[in-house]
Amino acid sequence: MTAKLDEKLVPIYQDVLHRNPGEKEFHQAVHEVLETLGPVLVKYPEFADKKIIQRICEPERQIIFRVPWQDDQGEIHINRAFRVEFNSALGPYKGGMRFHPSVYLGIIKFLGFEQIFKNALTGLPIGGGKGGSDFDPKGRSDDEIMRFCQSLMTELYRHLGEYTDVPAGDIGVGGREIGYMFGQYKRITNRYESGVFTGKGLDWGGSRARTEATGYGTVFFTHEMLKARGDSLDGKTVVVSGSGNVATYAIEKCHELGAKVIACSDSQGIIVDEKGIDLKALKQIKEIERRRISAYTEIHKDAKYVEGGNIWSVPCDVALPCATQNELNASDAKTLVENGCIAVAEGANMPTTPEGILLFQDAKICYGPGKAANAGGVATSALEMQQNASRDSWTFDYTQKRLEEIMIDIHKNCYETAAEFGSEGNYVLGANVNGFLRVAKAMTAMGV
Ligand code: GLU
Repeated sequence: MTAKLDEKLVPIYQDVLHRNPGEKEFHQAVHEVLETLGPVLVKYPEFADKKIIQRICEPERQIIFRVPWQDDQGEIHINRAFRVEFNSALGPYKGGMRFHPSVYLGIIKFLGFEQIFKNALTGLPIGGGKGGSDFDPKGRSDDEIMRFCQSLMTELYRHLGEYTDVPAGDIGVGGREIGYMFGQYKRITNRYESGVFTGKGLDWGGSRARTEATGYGTVFFTHEMLKARGDSLDGKTVVVSGSGNVATYAIEKCHELGAKVIACSDSQGIIVDEKGIDLKALKQIKEIERRRISAYTEIHKDAKYVEGGNIWSVPCDVALPCATQNELNASDAKTLVENGCIAVAEGANMPTTPEGILLFQDAKICYGPGKAANAGGVATSALEMQQNASRDSWTFDYTQKRLEEIMIDIHKNCYETAAEFGSEGNYVLGANVNGFLRVAKAMTAMGV
């Protein structure tokens, strides 16, 4: 049921399938971008001549390495880690590290591929990359996390640099892990190279508002989509999947803008609190105690916890998928639309399946793809790099203002690009084409 490719793009996609067997998430991400590039090749035939799309689909460099580490009982474990340095036309490779048992090359490639266009959309000088490991941090002690991060950096350090490749966090990687990785980089290289990592702690080169940035940015983007239709977030009922960093700060900003978030989730179940999710309780459970969200009902007895529940069955005006890839399928999309949902914005990367996206587009609701809607995180990483380069530290308000301006700009660029290519309101096309054009023009200028 996915959209068809322009005939010129079919062989390019076939080649991607052939060169990257079994990497289904990567195939999905490439297909989704290629679906929107047909009209671009009509307007810019030179990009076909120069094989820009084929070149973008092949990572510049892929690093796969072994990470041996010892647990608290002295047992040795071996994990596999990756860094895919996808495209450096616009700046050093930039993108997070993901620690999750589902990680394999296909996941890192899909994320790295998305990152190229997302980073380009921010208008800031950052290329695209991504890394991670199949290491499962769940239930691991602080010491085990530290030993794992140090072992990983003992190999990865040689591929990084503030002008080369700049990692950050993603699922399973937050301030604690970045601290351990940055510390090992500093130890091995004998360089206090602040700009080599983003998402650092505030006392040692981090940026204010970076922790909040992805979630806040998603909500700023949602607000812009609604404004473009003469509406706003004020008074809206919102459902946010996930309860990690992105979800938490999406909830916070929704509440600040007058909306009410009534449900969130983790991998085990969902919480529904019709009074509005109590953010203080959520932060206490997730960030401080590192427990399951089921604990929420210990604090709010009238809230409902449903083990294995489907968050998309909770009626809402706005849905923000902020958990993980392919978490919202066609039947979820149908339920949301039938229940009156008017806007969906992706805080996670590729959370909606291709069939789900088509359903949202057919229903003509606002649909903001992750490349645009969650670009606030990486944009604020670029602001962190700016502060590091100038040995400066900005205030929270100033940094948040910059983030908001960037999100407003991204929305405007997506909107205008979609209109220019005859698909008004199609943010998928707007984001893909706008990001693609920036990268393609830089690649053309720099030669083969
Ligand atoms: N992991 C985030 C993303 O998916 C942030 C990457 C970064 O800050 O480099 O965009």
